[in-house]
Amino acid sequence: MKIVPLGPPGVGKGTLAKKISENFQIPHISTGDIFRRLAEEGDPIGAKARDEYWGHGNLVPDEITNELVRITLAKPEYRENFILDGFPRTRDQAEALDTFVGDYIPLLLTASDQTIRTRILNRLTCSNKDCEGIYNSVTKVPKYARKCDCGSELIRRKDDNKKALPIRMAEYQKNSPGVLAYYGGRVLEIDAEQSSEKIYQEVINLFS
Ligand code: AMP
Repeated sequence: MKIVPLGPPGVGKGTLAKKISENFQIPHISTGDIFRRLAEEGDPIGAKARDEYWGHGNLVPDEITNELVRITLAKPEYRENFILDGFPRTRDQAEALDTFVGDYIPLLLTASDQTIRTRILNRLTCSNKDCEGIYNSVTKVPKYARKCDCGSELIRRKDDNKKALPIRMAEYQKNSPGVLAYYGGRVLEIDAEQSSEKIYQEVINLFS
């Protein structure tokens, strides 16, 4: 099974991907996580991507991102199954993805701008990159203040703030029509106004 969730930042792609990945042992790839990890490791491409692009809410250019995804998807562990979260975000990326792999399902998650805003501005992310825990200080409050269930500290992402949010939303609004037009009837759609549990259940029903 190869699933490619699409939708605005903060709509719940990462939460859904984590659940599917854990319950079905499907590897989860997140382009945002790859960029964040590269930056933390001091990789020059990672640092450039953070300082010039994602740290400000802008997309990393297609040439860099496409190459990163091409190299990643060529690994044997992604041959049969994966859930790819965060890519494609432009029509060029969608076209590139079709040259990297064939049989995947684009799955669009939709929610209102107000819902997205609330989710992003209250999002807390686990600092342990191997955990990927995602919480919300309003709707999914952690059991212990600022602590993930895994015990690691919860942090706010550098780009989850009021300054970067409108830039990220504008990027999405500019690019997503091209992506959706490219996929046309291939896209399955899920109402992501619902709770993460209901979204997950709906996706499972779609695939069973
Ligand atoms: P995400 O965690 O998916 O919200 O991604 C965080 C940031 O990484 C985005 O705001 C972009 O700057 C960058 N990024 C992630 N995926 C892509 C992509 N497919 N194309 C361009 N930039 C990306």
